[in-house]
Amino acid sequence: MKTVWIDPGHGGKDPGAVGIGVLEKDVVLNISLGVKKRLEAEYEGVKVQLSRSTDVFLELRERTDAANKAGADLLVSIHCNAGGGAGGFESFRYTGASAASRSLQNVLHTEIMALLKPFNVRDRGQKAANLHMVRESKMPAVLTENLFIDVASDASKLKRKDVIDALIAGHVLGIAKYLGLKKKEEKPVSNLNRDIHVVSSWAASAWEEMTKNGYVDGSRPGAPVTREENAVMMNRLRKNLLQLIAGNREQLAEMEKRLQAIEAAEITK
Ligand SMILES: [Zn+2]
Repeated sequence: MKTVWIDPGHGGKDPGAVGIGVLEKDVVLNISLGVKKRLEAEYEGVKVQLSRSTDVFLELRERTDAANKAGADLLVSIHCNAGGGAGGFESFRYTGASAASRSLQNVLHTEIMALLKPFNVRDRGQKAANLHMVRESKMPAVLTENLFIDVASDASKLKRKDVIDALIAGHVLGIAKYLGLKKKEEKPVSNLNRDIHVVSSWAASAWEEMTKNGYVDGSRPGAPVTREENAVMMNRLRKNLLQLIAGNREQLAEMEKRLQAIEAAEITK
């Protein structure tokens, strides 16, 4: 079981950068909760712990202490940038980063930028800085700066669900790739876990219609169908279709007769 530590920056009395109609602490919490949810739902053998999952204040020291104590396999600290200019995405490793941190930064940065491509986000590059979160974490650690909250074009992107989803998916893919996580197999809907005598709500009206029209007898709606049963149902459908076509022929012939009679009446007038 791998432990991923996600650190949503700021919180509580510390709003982080204050943008145009958005607060950094809210955006990064939203992204962080999304990363935890998707990573755990879609990949096997991984557990995500968060420095905070609500709007509370934590010192930087408390964050790295908790991650180190948990023995996390990697740490990603999630922030938004500020300071004006042209905006964009960038990531940070420690100036004295390990090869593992550099590798984490590279895969994370690449996956995130790939998913941001449709939204025209500027790539500000993979950088190194002497930041507490990446310096004091004992595991491979990267800090991501997810767009500029005080640049109008970036701030408007941070208000869009598809952009936030892309940021979440980029973090998830990068982390999964770095740790070599295996994707969970999508389980086919099983007949073993249901009551075959109770019709599923999504199929209820179709089942009622089929029963009313005599294709099925109305029993055991959740049971699998054999090839023989399928042949019987198909044959019932075929007979009905043939009758329908024959019925239309009679109607058409009748209409034709009536038209001819009308024409004949007009001629003799
Ligand atoms: Zn920040």
